[in-house]
Amino acid sequence: MSETEKIPEIEKIVDHCLIFDVDGVLTDPVRKEITTPEGIKAIAERLQRGEPVILNTGRAVDFVRAKIIKPLVGALGNRTLLRNVLAVGEKGAVVMYFDNNGNEQLVVDETISIPAHIQAEARRITEEQYGDSMFFDDTKRTMVSIEMHDRYDLSKFQEAQKKLITELEALINTPEFKNRLRVDPSTIATDIQDVAVGKALGVRKALWWLGEKNVSPKEFLTFGDSQGDLAMAEELARLGKPTRFVFVGEPNKLKAENAQFPIVQTSDKYERGVAEFLKQLK
Ligand SMILES: [Mg+2]
Repeated sequence: MSETEKIPEIEKIVDHCLIFDVDGVLTDPVRKEITTPEGIKAIAERLQRGEPVILNTGRAVDFVRAKIIKPLVGALGNRTLLRNVLAVGEKGAVVMYFDNNGNEQLVVDETISIPAHIQAEARRITEEQYGDSMFFDDTKRTMVSIEMHDRYDLSKFQEAQKKLITELEALINTPEFKNRLRVDPSTIATDIQDVAVGKALGVRKALWWLGEKNVSPKEFLTFGDSQGDLAMAEELARLGKPTRFVFVGEPNKLKAENAQFPIVQTSDKYERGVAEFLKQLK
């Protein structure tokens, strides 16, 4: 930040801070891109009201830049309001924010990066044995992510994935790494990540950024389509922040009986669920 931005400002109180998971929330879960413009238009309107917007995803920031920031700039008409946008990528390890002119700044948390020799070995295993079904994601800066080829047969992938998980677990099963790293499989990818990363870390990075900007939201609205996204609202509640969790996934996929905060289930799902909720938000 420049010197002038460091001068303490009067605390700015806003009604909401919006925190979104990306896949299946802002993008269509199958096509992996925005397929209905209503959601992104509604987010542009919240930014125009001065409300901060945070994206919290396991994706690389390159994906967020191409699939979300670009269409968002289209909806806003210019880049200046990006100053109220924070994109947290790689499960909290990479942060992308914007200066008052909309120029992008990246902060990579090197303390939770996967060591280079583990990355190299994971890449070798992928390319030599699993190249037909998966690829090593070169856009990730801190974690290992091995993703299914687009349109590959999901059941064949999951067979191969079982074997891959065993090999990756053997790779990190050393005195140095077994308590620090873990293998995290999902429907279409297998990751090696630091135990410290996750949706809650993304939330703490968001709170740090809001503090730097001296912005105090009256309420945090968190949006997700998976069980794991609940951790965003849980972390906020744990830190004493008023929050609601807006669930836009399949209703039977969420278990939250003990939640200490209100949960909203939208009737429409994914991107449309987000648009539905934001339409009625005052
Ligand atoms: Mg998701």
